[in-house]
Amino acid sequence: MNQKIAIVGAGMAGLMVARNLTDCGHSVVVFEKARGPGGRMSTRRQEEYAFDHGAQYFTCRDQRFSDQVEVWREEGIVAEWASPIQVLRSGQLSTTQEERERYVGVPRMSSIARRLSQDLELVTKTRVGEVIRDEKRGIPWEIRSESGDRLGHFDAVIVATPAPQAVPLLAAVPDFAQIASGVSMEPCHATMVSFDSELEVDFGGAFVHDSILAWVARNSTKPNRPVAESWVLHSQSEWSAKQSEGNPEKVSAEMLQAFSEALGHPLPEVLFQSSHRWLLARSEKPLGEGFLWNSASRLGVCGDWLHGDRVEGAFLSGLELTEAIQQSLG
Ligand SMILES: Cc1cc2nc3c(=O)[nH]c(=O)nc-3n(C[C@H](O)[C@H](O)[C@H](O)COP(=O)(O)OP(=O)(O)OC[C@H]3O[C@@H](n4cnc5c(N)ncnc54)[C@H](O)[C@@H]3O)c2cc1C
Repeated sequence: MNQKIAIVGAGMAGLMVARNLTDCGHSVVVFEKARGPGGRMSTRRQEEYAFDHGAQYFTCRDQRFSDQVEVWREEGIVAEWASPIQVLRSGQLSTTQEERERYVGVPRMSSIARRLSQDLELVTKTRVGEVIRDEKRGIPWEIRSESGDRLGHFDAVIVATPAPQAVPLLAAVPDFAQIASGVSMEPCHATMVSFDSELEVDFGGAFVHDSILAWVARNSTKPNRPVAESWVLHSQSEWSAKQSEGNPEKVSAEMLQAFSEALGHPLPEVLFQSSHRWLLARSEKPLGEGFLWNSASRLGVCGDWLHGDRVEGAFLSGLELTEAIQQSLG
């Protein structure tokens, strides 16, 4: 029977559930606080540049994800990123052990979320503040925005946000709220930068050691990207946690200085730079539950923090929750 289902969060996990349940004939509404879908797989478009400032690439360990990636490749929204990845330490480069193929969305990481959300009822710029249960009603769940606006009544609700943002939304099912409150997430700063000339390096990305940086990527080496020399730098979480809010210029200046030190030579002239703080970038210790589903109250939870902290984990969490919902709702 057709059910009215609300999904909070339009990242990979929430969109997987939304896509599958919509395709099964349910009436699904997705609420997203940002301007568009994608969550931590978003792309920042700035002037002529498009920076993947969150997830950098993804790999496949599980056959179910490999099969989906193959479909996306055939559809032309995913391609392999074959540029070499290295380890960078104080001007010295060494090779990495990672032997899996690496994939990215094309022409940008956000293309995958755009495709998954095609034809979905997606309500953006709307932060859900309350998920209220009213047993007396035929349709038991009510969703309200953080400013108290009534956003509708639903037969089932799926919370697909990072764990700390899920806690207040799970108040009606205290066991789930308690599980989510046990997961802490680390911050990360992303600096997006373009230079007036090419850096003389022959890698596409590098894990950085002994630095405030954790990772650097030459965004322009990813497939189907604009050719202009553009880079994304990610900081170490411990360093990010110590940075005070509201000083992006200082953050990106320090990260660029660290990039120069890691390379062991000065950087070319900067044409454009910007930074973004991911307050909830990665879970310190993701849980192994996969997903949470309470069939009596019809409340579900999914996200990478329940299934391994990566794009693949978010996908599998959404997929497995969908299967549980289909069994339960028929
Ligand atoms: C800097 C960085 C680098 C990364 N690098 C990689 C990588 O190289 N490879 C890899 O596999 N993974 C990487 N990841 C992790 C990967 O991005 C995530 O595992 C995955 O995207 C998580 O998807 P999700 O759907 O679980 O959550 P999210 O993408 O966080 O989606 C949750 C959504 O919920 C929305 N939301 C939250 N609260 C509310 C609310 N109250 N109301 C409405 N909407 C709400 C958010 O705006 C967001 O869009 C990286 C992450 C970051 C931040």
